[in-house]
Amino acid sequence: MMARKLDALVVGAGPVGLNMAAALLAQGLHVRIIDSAADRAQESRAIGIQARTLEVFEISGILNEFLELGHRLNGVTLYGETGAEIGHLDFGHIPSRYPFILTLPQSETERILGDHLRRSGLEIERQTTLISFEQSDFAVFAKIALPDGRNEEICADWLLGCDGARSEVRESLGLQFAGKTFDLHFLLGDFHAESTLSEDHAHVFGRPEGLLAFFPLGKGRYRLVADNPPEQLRSEKKPTLSEWQGIADGRSSTQMKLSDLGWTTYFRVNSRMVERLRRGRAFVLGDAAHIHSPALAQGMNTGIQDAWNLGWKLALVQRCFAQPALLDSFERERLPIEHNVLRMTEFTQNMITAEKRSNRLLRDTLLPILSGINAFQKTATKTVSETVIEYRSSPVVEDHYAPDGPHAGDFAAGALVSRPGKNGKIALATLFGREHVLLCLATPQSWQDGLQTVKPIFELIHKHYGQIITPYFILPNEGLAAQSDVDVLVDVEGQFAQQYAASVLYLVRPDGYIAFRCLAAKQNLLQSYIDKYFLPL
Ligand SMILES: Cc1cc2nc3c(=O)[nH]c(=O)nc-3n(C[C@H](O)[C@H](O)[C@H](O)COP(=O)(O)OP(=O)(O)OC[C@H]3O[C@@H](n4cnc5c(N)ncnc54)[C@H](O)[C@@H]3O)c2cc1C
Repeated sequence: MMARKLDALVVGAGPVGLNMAAALLAQGLHVRIIDSAADRAQESRAIGIQARTLEVFEISGILNEFLELGHRLNGVTLYGETGAEIGHLDFGHIPSRYPFILTLPQSETERILGDHLRRSGLEIERQTTLISFEQSDFAVFAKIALPDGRNEEICADWLLGCDGARSEVRESLGLQFAGKTFDLHFLLGDFHAESTLSEDHAHVFGRPEGLLAFFPLGKGRYRLVADNPPEQLRSEKKPTLSEWQGIADGRSSTQMKLSDLGWTTYFRVNSRMVERLRRGRAFVLGDAAHIHSPALAQGMNTGIQDAWNLGWKLALVQRCFAQPALLDSFERERLPIEHNVLRMTEFTQNMITAEKRSNRLLRDTLLPILSGINAFQKTATKTVSETVIEYRSSPVVEDHYAPDGPHAGDFAAGALVSRPGKNGKIALATLFGREHVLLCLATPQSWQDGLQTVKPIFELIHKHYGQIITPYFILPNEGLAAQSDVDVLVDVEGQFAQQYAASVLYLVRPDGYIAFRCLAAKQNLLQSYIDKYFLPL
């Protein structure tokens, strides 16, 4: 029997490759994932998981394990030159059902993602390295080195380069990784610590001696990051516990007793990115495409969003359900976001480290004022949590008039709904992930008229696009559901009506972003949109 042709080869099983493989697998694609390392990351590395990533994990059905294992940070407190508090960010402003940063070592994140992949039937092929690849208009031909020393030639339709900052895929594609290495030196260490600092906040001290950031990981464990280390520690030599204690004593304004030193390392910060995310049938994502300061904990989160954005598009095109042009939108949607992340992390790093005294004085004067302004809290927390991400100006997003509610391009706001005749509420997000979902909220007074209005477009979708779009009419109560002959969800708590306009068609993409919006009465606009991007059965 001939082996089924490989749809995609994912190179790299870091957090980005694992998410990429999971997204493609969920869409029914035949995928292999290889990694040159013998095991997953053993170090804590990326510890901050942002709200938008948690929302993505909710759609993927893996959120609960993260919430159970992670530690919630409700804000960050900043201390200035004298050690006094100069400002704070309150994550309660994050517009999400998950208004916090979850701290969890990257080793655990990779374990959860790897287990998820295994449960879905895919094993990571370890000690397996991409050596080189070529591509034609129709396929990619990759040479990989196997653990037993043999080489294997693989033919796949697509190649996903999730192979980190030193990406072989990026090199082979000839993509420039333009940017700079900052003249800044950092130390990082994980500890047990005794201190009076609250465990539900991160604490950042910007003292004349240098920066000290203190991130609770839960159960008495903490991550410390310091810049400007003593000269003898500006190397690959690992700092000792007493050297760390000295740094903490000199920079924290409160006593901190460190013990049980875990992973510790020295690092420099780069800010680099590619100008293209794709050449032909090969893509680069995550650290292979962009690296920057760890300030604001964006790197892993941004990479996971890259994979999340590409997965469903690649699958629809590969399954011949969408026009290949859909894939061009990956770069159009993600490159501006990656540019912003580089700019924002660089700005934050400069502001917090503030090496010059004049800059520290400016920072210590401005931050207390800014922290008291509600609009600043909202904007800053939205940015950090990545809930600011929207694709309103994407070429594959179309927005038409609606009286209120989210726009096309926005992330579809969460709500609890129920299915008629079934006990229990479900998060709207659990309906996303695989197909597009069409949502239309009934007007309570005239829901029957509303039903008649949407019926033609619902029927057209069932007939020609049933495998890729699922439409739901949303009713205010279960009693009406029995009288309706289309798929219905019940807005049991009125949460949907609070956030979305009635009699408006919202087409939600598998990644949870709204692709299209128009009044139900103007459903011919939706039909044109569907005809433009999707291929009928
Ligand atoms: C100190 C520090 C703190 C950080 N803190 C945060 C944070 O709090 N939040 C955050 O979002 N980000 C943070 N980051 C960034 C984050 O760690 C990275 O952005 C993230 O690991 C990138 O994931 P990735 O999957 O793209 O790459 P990687 O994690 O680097 O994975 C790439 C994988 O590809 C494999 N590979 C490479 N070449 C090949 C090949 N030729 N063939 C096969 N396999 C190959 C490697 O073995 C590796 O497993 C931090 C980074 C550092 C250094």
